[in-house]
Amino acid sequence: MRRVSVLGATGSVGRNTVGLLEAQGGADTYEVVALSGSSNVALLSEQARRLRARVAVTADRARLGELQAALAGSGTRAAAGPEALCAAAAEPVDWAMSAIVGAAGLAPGLELARHGGVLALANKESMVCAGDLMRRTCAAHGTRLIPADSEHSAIFQALNGERSREIERVILTASGGPFRDWTARQMAGVTPEQARAHPNWDMGERISIDSATMFNKALEIIEAHELFGLAPDQIDVVVHPQSIVHSMVEFRDGSLIAQLGVSDMRGVIGYALNWPERRALPVPRLDLATLGRLDFAPVDVERFPALRLARRVLALGGLAGTVFNAAKEAALDAYLLRAIGFLDMAVLVEHVLERLGPDAAAQGAGYGLDAVTDLDAEARRMGARWVEAFAGV
Ligand code: NAD
Ligand code: MG
Repeated sequence: MRRVSVLGATGSVGRNTVGLLEAQGGADTYEVVALSGSSNVALLSEQARRLRARVAVTADRARLGELQAALAGSGTRAAAGPEALCAAAAEPVDWAMSAIVGAAGLAPGLELARHGGVLALANKESMVCAGDLMRRTCAAHGTRLIPADSEHSAIFQALNGERSREIERVILTASGGPFRDWTARQMAGVTPEQARAHPNWDMGERISIDSATMFNKALEIIEAHELFGLAPDQIDVVVHPQSIVHSMVEFRDGSLIAQLGVSDMRGVIGYALNWPERRALPVPRLDLATLGRLDFAPVDVERFPALRLARRVLALGGLAGTVFNAAKEAALDAYLLRAIGFLDMAVLVEHVLERLGPDAAAQGAGYGLDAVTDLDAEARRMGARWVEAFAGV
């Protein structure tokens, strides 16, 4: 039986992954090794019971008792805390899903990268903040990284059988989020409730707000650079409000190959689960005649400065992505606490990136997890100081 683990099983990607595992036979088809979550212990224990998981881990140490009680008599072992999470991730599997949100997914994701099977990667932050380390770890253990982000899955699928030296560029599509046509003035007063309502995709709160600021697309530009080894000027973004074309690759003969589908992550996750096969998936089919039209427009870097900052990260190189991601997470935390406004998030990130970025850029290949963790913490501290100063005015 194929051994599988799902980290971040209780989240939006994780729930879809668990659903697909169940649709493909559940515990009768898969030997489920580890499932992880954090505060949602009730859901985690239900998933573990249904899939007869060997271990269920909550990242939240304080919830161990609650998880143990919920799993009593199930045969699933309960564990808690970041070390237990990494230990569970280190259990050998043939296929793993990395779907924790944020840089918290890096250390356990690196454990998953040591198994030599397939690593489905939804946690784009680990590629943004430590792409080289992730690639090195996968290469050292023969692990195959399959993107579980719709744009990068589309590019991966479009590249199937093609030679990478024949790529001219990739074009990432962006829905533009709920404020695609808003002025900066209108966006200044946006609340977290408004920002988390994505027009096309049903996702976790943090990535939804990142889509509204276009920080998500900024992360994805860096993710594309890290995953496909592309130069910065080979990565373009186009606004495509319907999110039907998930991304495309332009080859040197001028041909564009795009991947299309409905906006349903089960297509993306199912592709990574069954790769290199394609199996029937429970996703709605695209009806282009009913849809009628697909629109495209240039991105506006003035109103969405996150995209400009992503270019800055690529120009800096090294560990600039670590600083960028950590500052962005700190900014989002402050925004969710209503300590700063919607547009202030990019101001904070630029502040931290300009101060810590150049030194971080000097850290070339060969760095380890400690260097990333230290820099991540420093960027968050600087972000928190900026918020204090901001709130003090
Ligand atoms: P989510 O918020 O719905 O779920 C996050 C998961 O991570 C939960 O299981 C939660 O318990 C766990 N978690 C949160 N903080 C943690 C911590 N500190 N330590 C350990 N576990 C923790 O997020 P999501 O929308 O499913 O996104 C997960 C990842 O997938 C993100 O990196 C996101 O960018 C990426 N992604 C998501 C989608 C989508 O459709 N949701 C699409 C593409 C990429
Ligand atoms: Mg995406």
